[in-house]
Amino acid sequence: MSSVERNTKEWQDLDVAHHLHPFTDPKYFDTKGPLVVTRAEGSYVWDSNGRKILDGMAGLWCVNVGYGRKELIDASHKQMQELAYYNVFFQSSTPPQIELSRVLAELTPGDLNHFFFTNSGSEANDTIIRMVRHFWEVEGKPEKHIFIGRTLGYHGSTLAATSLGGMQAMHDMGKSLLPGFEHIMHPHHFANGKGQTREVFGIKAAQALEEKILELGADNVAAFVAEPVQGAGGVIEPPATYWPEIQRICKKYDVLLVADEVICGFGRLGHWFGSQAYGIEPDLMPMAKGLSSGYLPIAAVAYSARIQKGLQKGGLFSHGYTYSGHPVACAVALANIKLIKDEKLIERVHDETAPYFRKRLNEAVAGHKLVGEVRGAGLLAGVQLVKDKKTGELFDSAENVAVRCRDHCLERGLIMRAVGQSMVASPPLIITKAEIDDMIDILIASLDQTAKDMGVA
Ligand SMILES: *Cc1c(COP(=O)(O)O)cnc(C)c1O
Repeated sequence: MSSVERNTKEWQDLDVAHHLHPFTDPKYFDTKGPLVVTRAEGSYVWDSNGRKILDGMAGLWCVNVGYGRKELIDASHKQMQELAYYNVFFQSSTPPQIELSRVLAELTPGDLNHFFFTNSGSEANDTIIRMVRHFWEVEGKPEKHIFIGRTLGYHGSTLAATSLGGMQAMHDMGKSLLPGFEHIMHPHHFANGKGQTREVFGIKAAQALEEKILELGADNVAAFVAEPVQGAGGVIEPPATYWPEIQRICKKYDVLLVADEVICGFGRLGHWFGSQAYGIEPDLMPMAKGLSSGYLPIAAVAYSARIQKGLQKGGLFSHGYTYSGHPVACAVALANIKLIKDEKLIERVHDETAPYFRKRLNEAVAGHKLVGEVRGAGLLAGVQLVKDKKTGELFDSAENVAVRCRDHCLERGLIMRAVGQSMVASPPLIITKAEIDDMIDILIASLDQTAKDMGVA
């Protein structure tokens, strides 16, 4: 409960007066006040009017264990009393930070047994850029500096993470595409693979990496970065042929593979990490969101024995954040991981809720006249909206079809997100089958209403 009590109108007016929102047109709130969320429990949030809303996005893809979990709250309280802050710069460390590194090393794939802590996924990716370039310098290959990402890839919003990602609007704002960053096509069969089978398209999309490496010269390429399943780009899960081919290409040209696990990590795909779901063997893995289920800001870079060897030869590692490995955030992350284990949430997603979610989406949503494709994996879903179901023709982007659908969902008590002309969902891992049914019902009613708005018969 906030210590200050105001009504919705007061909150909204003050918000408009003083607060700039991320990824939001400031003009938007001139016509429509923000949704003011005041409390939350389980899979639900409540707004300032006391309305209960099913959170189909788990906050911003992060509240994996659901809201109001006593174990996480108690862990932060206890750690605050014991040691609210100490840094891990120079020769210092703290028990939560050491313990979290140990616990993560047991969960991460391969020999990714080393960790550097940051406060956000963006900072984790910035860290990787500096760490990987430093690594190649130490190895005597300083010209290996270019990072290859993908169109519609999202790796954060700092200047470097913006460059790493492949969001055109972000590059365009403020001349944000730095030199030394290249992008290849995203492996979205529906958008880019017309007339090819998924399998053939998957290989082709992966081979775009090989072409790019050859164009730039392998001696100039430091790393390839990709999300196992693209999240903010619209929940794009690659064809089964994609990742093995990417893996082959990275090995062949000694290009480091960075699997951005910020969304896929901590159970979202029914595995601890998306890399395990797809058999990816990354050299480095940024993780964030699900690491603390969003209860406190914390992120980490996991990296391999090979990188560690390089760093140990490289002298002073001139990089770090005041709150790297913040003890309270680490304590909450530890409680979060323990809860995921104790409640067998990953098994539950893998064996029960994700198969049910996919079945309901495929049976009840995929056939809707406004839906061109249902995609995703685990508890991640993308629903492509189309003007013409037969041809896959899209709406004029100015018609904001997905935003309309999103607003209809919210009116009916469900938070989903609009990305381009798709609706995306990423519910908490604790979601029940009954709650999934509610999600699907509201989504269908909202699709019906949107079809009416758009004159789709
Ligand atoms: C959210 C996200 C990030 C950025 O994390 P922040 O904590 O918002 O900086 C990076 N990568 C992926 C895949 C993300 O979804």
